[in-house]
Amino acid sequence: MRKRHQNPRLAKIHRSYTVDEVADLYRVAKNTVRHWIKQGLPTCDSKRPMLVLGNELNNFHEKRRIKNKRPCLLDEIYCVRCRTPKKPAAGMVEYQAITPTSGNLVAICPDCETLIYRCISKINIPRIPYPIHILLPQPHLHIVESLKPSVNSDFRTEAKPHVKIQS
Ligand SMILES: [Zn+2]
Repeated sequence: MRKRHQNPRLAKIHRSYTVDEVADLYRVAKNTVRHWIKQGLPTCDSKRPMLVLGNELNNFHEKRRIKNKRPCLLDEIYCVRCRTPKKPAAGMVEYQAITPTSGNLVAICPDCETLIYRCISKINIPRIPYPIHILLPQPHLHIVESLKPSVNSDFRTEAKPHVKIQS
């Protein structure tokens, strides 16, 4: 199952919940709740059935949310779908130049197979620990322009885009 963030304000802070009720509240499996408990979600051990305080539930999810917000390492690209930094699938990365000095690293998320992007300065490319396939800036710009509806009058001169792009 995909890991997702839970609302850190969902539980009522003065209530206590059984494992069943927690599962219902967050619409997750009971096993997921047990997993949270193993990962440090506090319970009231003296009571049966096991109870979890709403306040503790909220704290637990808030802490997780912050923990998952870590920045990408050099060999990672953030996946918006998994909401966490990922290493590119098969170590394959493309660099698409946007400007002469910067562009996007493009790869595929190994878990959900979504395209993942990361903005990078061209100067930092040698620091990325993967072989990178570099796409040339001009054909890329040309493709983007021709896909866009020409709202901006500057982009209407598609017949001679290479003249326009070169600065
Ligand atoms: Zn993903």
